[in-house]
Amino acid sequence: MNAKKSGRAPAKTPPKKPIHLKSKDKSAKTEKPGKPAPAPAPKPPAARIPAAAAPKPAPLPAPKVKKTNGAVKVGVVGCAGRMGQMLLKMLINAPGVVVVGGTERRGSAALGQDLGALAGAEPLGISVSDDPSLLFDSADVVVDFTNPSATLQHAQMAARTGCALVIGTTGFDNDQLASLHRVAQRAPIVLAANMSLGVNLLQQVVEEVARILDSDWDIEIVEMHHKHKVDAPSGTALALGEAAARGRGQQLRRIARRSREGQVGPRVKGEIGFAALRGGDVVGDHTVIFAAEGERVEITHRASSREIFARGALKSVLWAAGKKPGLYSMRDVLGFSVQAPQTPTAPGNGSNGG
Ligand code: NAD
Repeated sequence: MNAKKSGRAPAKTPPKKPIHLKSKDKSAKTEKPGKPAPAPAPKPPAARIPAAAAPKPAPLPAPKVKKTNGAVKVGVVGCAGRMGQMLLKMLINAPGVVVVGGTERRGSAALGQDLGALAGAEPLGISVSDDPSLLFDSADVVVDFTNPSATLQHAQMAARTGCALVIGTTGFDNDQLASLHRVAQRAPIVLAANMSLGVNLLQQVVEEVARILDSDWDIEIVEMHHKHKVDAPSGTALALGEAAARGRGQQLRRIARRSREGQVGPRVKGEIGFAALRGGDVVGDHTVIFAAEGERVEITHRASSREIFARGALKSVLWAAGKKPGLYSMRDVLGFSVQAPQTPTAPGNGSNGG
C-alpha cells in the first residue's frame, strides 16, 4: 500500500498535538490539524566525504539532525503487535518524543487504523502504513519489535538513511547477527533482547556470581513465556547464558546445552543448560540456577507487565537519537559497566573474568 494513501486518514477528532510530517524537509515544522500532508521531499544527498583517491567507499548517510522543536521524531514498526501497541501508548504520552508513523506487515488488519486509536489514545491523524521506507526517511529513531527477517529489512533501511534503530526483536541466528553488525557501521543500532532494567541488572549479577563460583557449581537457566512466543530459548535466557559464560571466561556457544531429551547421559561439567517453558500469558520469567553439592543459589527475575520493556525502549530512543553509527546494548543505554573485582579480599575469585 502506498504510504501516502494510508499515511493520513481523515481523523474525526483533531489530533491532540501537532504531528511532524513524513518528510525529510527539515524546514517543515508542524502540521496544522486537518491540513493534508505534503508530498515527501526528495531525499537529500548523503554526507559529503572529503575528496580522496579513488576508489571511494560508499558515503555514509548524512547524520540525522535530531529533534524538531526539542522532540525526537520516532516511528514504530510492528506497531499493532503486543509490544508495538504498548510502546506506542507510552511514546504518545512521553515528553521529548513525537510519533511520526507506524507500520505493520502487508495484510495486517491494523493497516489504515489511526495510530492513536490503535494505542487506546486520542487520534493522532496518522494511519498505520505498510511502507517502512517513508518512515525511515522521516524519523530520527525507529523502534522495532517484529521478527528477525522483518528487522533485517528494517536494518537495511536504517543503513540507507542513517536513522537510528532500536531493536527489541529476538531470535536472530548468527548470520542475521552478523548482518546487524555490518549495518551498525552506517547507523546507530541499539540491540537488546530484554529492555527491562531488572533483567539487565540480573545479567550483571549473574556474570559476577559466575565469576566467583567455580565450575563445581552447575549453571542452568530456566525461562517461561506466554504461549505465543515463537523462539526458544528466549533471547533473554541466551543473554543471561552469555553473562554467565563471560563470568567464567568462556564463550557460550562452546558450552551451551540448549535442550535435553532422551538418553542424554550425565551432565557435562562446565556446560550451561537451558530449559524453556511456554504457557498462558506469562510476560517473562527467568531463573539462573547455580547448583552445587548440598546447596543451590537461584537468581530470578519476573516480568509482570510489558511496560518495563516499553520503558526501556523509550529510554533507548532518547539515548540513540544523534548517536554515531555503532552497535549498542542496553548496558550502554543504562550506563552499566562491569568492574572486575579490584580488591585482594577474595583471592582467586576474580581471575577468570572474561
Ligand atoms: P507480536 O507478534 O505481538 O508483534 C509483532 C508484530 O510485528 C505483529 O503485529 C506483526 O504483524 C508485525 N510485523 C511482522 N512483520 C512485519 C513487517 N515486515 N513490518 C511491520 N510489522 C511486522 O510479538 P511481540 O510479543 O510484540 O514481540 C515481538 C518481538 O519482540 C519478539 O521477537 C519478542 O521476542 C520480542 N520482545 C522483546 C522484548 C525486549 O525487551 N527486547 C520484550 C518483549 C518481546
